[in-house]
Amino acid sequence: MIPVNEPLLDGNEKKYLLECIETGWISSEGPFIRRFEEAMAARVGRRHAIAVSNGSMALDAAVAALGLGPGDEVIMPAFTIISCAAAIVRAGAVPVLVDADPATWNMDVGQVKSRIGPRTRAIMVVHIYGLPTDMAPIEVLAARHGLKVIEDAAEMHGQTCRGRPCGSFGELSTFSFYPNKHVTTGEGGMILTDSDELAVRCRSLRNLCFKPPRRFVHDELGWNLRMTNMQAAIGVAQLERLDEFVARKRAMGARYTDALSGTAGLRLPLRRDDTAENIYWVYGIVLEDSVPFDADEAMRRLAERGVDCRPFFWPMHEQPVLRRMGLFEGERYPVAERLARRGFYVPSGMALTPAQIDAVVAAVRNVFA
Ligand SMILES: *Cc1c(COP(=O)(O)O)cnc(C)c1O
Repeated sequence: MIPVNEPLLDGNEKKYLLECIETGWISSEGPFIRRFEEAMAARVGRRHAIAVSNGSMALDAAVAALGLGPGDEVIMPAFTIISCAAAIVRAGAVPVLVDADPATWNMDVGQVKSRIGPRTRAIMVVHIYGLPTDMAPIEVLAARHGLKVIEDAAEMHGQTCRGRPCGSFGELSTFSFYPNKHVTTGEGGMILTDSDELAVRCRSLRNLCFKPPRRFVHDELGWNLRMTNMQAAIGVAQLERLDEFVARKRAMGARYTDALSGTAGLRLPLRRDDTAENIYWVYGIVLEDSVPFDADEAMRRLAERGVDCRPFFWPMHEQPVLRRMGLFEGERYPVAERLARRGFYVPSGMALTPAQIDAVVAAVRNVFA
């Protein structure tokens, strides 16, 4: 079986990890945390970076840091991971959805304006699968309507939008370091901001809102979102190779597209659009209407041929847990619904070899011949 994801850990990861063990610095107090935060802030061009336990909790902390809560609406894409809606709902705020763009799979920025109302306080932008959401119109709308922006850049390490680094937009941006992201720490996340005040708030929320002068006396509830020094050690080693990793992913995408572009019935990812060149967090495929079966059946047939695939996201307005809360009653987002049923991705990990790509291509061609 060709695995859907395998990380590449053959740089300085082992060396830095050994340093943690030899020095005894294994907790979040160790020196790699600061090194990783500084390297991420420098890479993205932001003043502050706050390492946390994962990308989902980075979103929870970002929403909390902005003080979003009951009565507030936050605009976000219908087509994304549950973490985005969960952060908004847990804060007591209301997610308001925007359908996807059928070509880029990102939130259709042309529809955002029509979703802004008197209660709208923020826009959560999520860059999906390798091309960034166009931030130019988002920045215009946010300025005009006085909205905060959270940029979920979990899939965008090393990507830019119109020449500016992803993760540098909005009040706060977040990253994930799950093993299928371009930079991994096993589990991990990061919040970035240019605001001194928001940085202090995020650091406090990360660490249970401990507060001087008397430790263990709390004014506010936070979480334990701390990253360990061992995770940060791996992160520092990974980040050293980010440019190489982005180049590897682009080469992977080009190899897949060159080999598959003649195959009938398959819609392949865009190589580029006006915002950027694709970095292929995953190599997604969407089945055209001419294909008589859906993505589940395609994945089953590919598994039979030794290729491990994964489905696309399932839209927020079709999530049973959110529907039970009374959200999104009667709402339809046809592009997101179609992507969920017709989309899947093939092996796309950093360690994927050209020979494995060619084997995946052969299996895909065989299924769709
Ligand atoms: C991976 C991902 C997350 C969640 O990150 P975890 O570290 O797995 O919690 C959030 N948003 C997007 C867009 C992601 O791809």
